[in-house]
Amino acid sequence: MTPLPTFHRRFLDALPGDPRDDTGPRQVPGAAWSRVTPTPVAAPRLLAWSRPLARELGLDDERMRDPETARVLGGNALWPGMAPYAANYGGHQFGHWAGQLGDGRAIVLGELERADGSTVELQLKGAGPTAYSRRGDGRAVLRSSLREFLCSEAMHWLDVPTTRALSLVATGDQVVRDMFYDGNARPEPGAITCRVAPSFLRFGSYQLPTSRGETTLLRQLVEFTLRDHYPQFVTTGGAGDRDALAAWLLEVTDRTARLIAQWQAVGFVHGVMNTDNLSILGLTIDYGPYGWIDDFDLGWTPNTTDAQQLRYAFGNQPTIGLWNVLRLGEALLPLFDGDEKPIEAAADRYRESYAAAATQRFAQKLGLTFDGAQGDGALIQDCFDWLGGAETDMTIFFRALAPLLTADEAPTRLPPTIEAAFYGDPSAAHREAGLAWLRRWWQRARAGDAEPAAVAAAMLRVNPRFVLRNWVAQTAIDACEKGDVAPLERLLRALERPFDDDPDVTDLVGRRPEWARHKPGCSALSCSS
Ligand code: AMP
Ligand code: MG
Repeated sequence: MTPLPTFHRRFLDALPGDPRDDTGPRQVPGAAWSRVTPTPVAAPRLLAWSRPLARELGLDDERMRDPETARVLGGNALWPGMAPYAANYGGHQFGHWAGQLGDGRAIVLGELERADGSTVELQLKGAGPTAYSRRGDGRAVLRSSLREFLCSEAMHWLDVPTTRALSLVATGDQVVRDMFYDGNARPEPGAITCRVAPSFLRFGSYQLPTSRGETTLLRQLVEFTLRDHYPQFVTTGGAGDRDALAAWLLEVTDRTARLIAQWQAVGFVHGVMNTDNLSILGLTIDYGPYGWIDDFDLGWTPNTTDAQQLRYAFGNQPTIGLWNVLRLGEALLPLFDGDEKPIEAAADRYRESYAAAATQRFAQKLGLTFDGAQGDGALIQDCFDWLGGAETDMTIFFRALAPLLTADEAPTRLPPTIEAAFYGDPSAAHREAGLAWLRRWWQRARAGDAEPAAVAAAMLRVNPRFVLRNWVAQTAIDACEKGDVAPLERLLRALERPFDDDPDVTDLVGRRPEWARHKPGCSALSCSS
């Protein structure tokens, strides 16, 4: 068994904390954290863990199977050096300032030192109440924990920046939830995910002190962030160096814009892009009622809480990313002495950066060396318009393109692999328009110097075959709730190789079955988790 890792407590030592250490719900002014110990659970049992991540963290199979590990990851024990706390932050929820939120059910255990000397935080989600739990119980149900566990890892293997997930532990306790807020509360199995990231700081972490006029805390928080996570922006002026801060804001802006371009390219809908759910490191964070696009519908959201407003629908994500960056910029205003120019620069940067990243991603997906003068912008836009014109599966469509490119001539009829992406039976006119687009695309993608086979191979590396479709995750949840973890294990293996043509997962990569169209968990998810 590998020795236990070393744990650090830099966040605690660098920033002021809450003098109280009880879990009474309260406002916590002037502090970045509150000490809290996870509340023990009845019978912690390791349901699954990410082997690649565990190895990266220096935790071998024997260590992961050690009963003491399940106790630590279930919140019943601590490894030496761990100093648990809940972080304090605020946020805008659905466009409205919500004041203090904080880790109401997440507890950072400590900062684990990796082999290269860098550190990552281990954080339990669902480990019991904290000072920030408000009326919540600090717990999480199996269905939402399993979804967060799997999707964190799925995003990583799709090359999308994300917090990771080390483990999924069943608690042996029941958690009462009203899944659709319709008065039908029922007990469900509880679970705890161990999330892993260099930092869980969010836009809301900076908003809260500013909203309270706590400029000293804001400055300390920014200096900590730069020192620990953005050393390239550290100067002798610290948070007083406005040029360095403005440059840092542009870097966060870039990361955010690029992240959202990647979401769009794989058809991921976050569902709750509140400012407390945007990472200062540009990672995908806080997997709640997220979903994957089946048919390419820009107006789709998995989040029932947002079904009327559609604020966080697929096609709105890029604009909301900008909205959130502006809120982060405003939070930094006291450090800019009220000068709004750095925020205006960030807005410009966001638009440029998003456009460039999205164009690059979609050009790659289509096998194009992008050239605006050759009409590639219109080619991409026409593709979106056509996809949106009749229910067409985004993942299947893009995956089907590469093999067409290596054929000797452009398609003369709509290929069966493209037909396989249709949910309904589109009109003859729609099919004809599709064929015309395909032929245009084929000529264009073959026009460059590169060998078609090489272009096709590159396309297969950016157009996943496997994404964690909502109905696929739901099958693992249903089985797991009945005590069968085999489907969960199978998904965990599949999501580690999303670009492979693995015949063993063919049943998981087809169109969403009709039964899943309106089934709770498959198309509609609430924030109840
Ligand atoms: P989220 O929608 O998951 O980003 O959560 C928003 C806020 O609600 C955060 O401050 C969470 O910590 C808190 N929260 C969500 N669920 C619970 C719960 N079951 N118990 C305590 N706090 C919660
Ligand atoms: Mg959150």
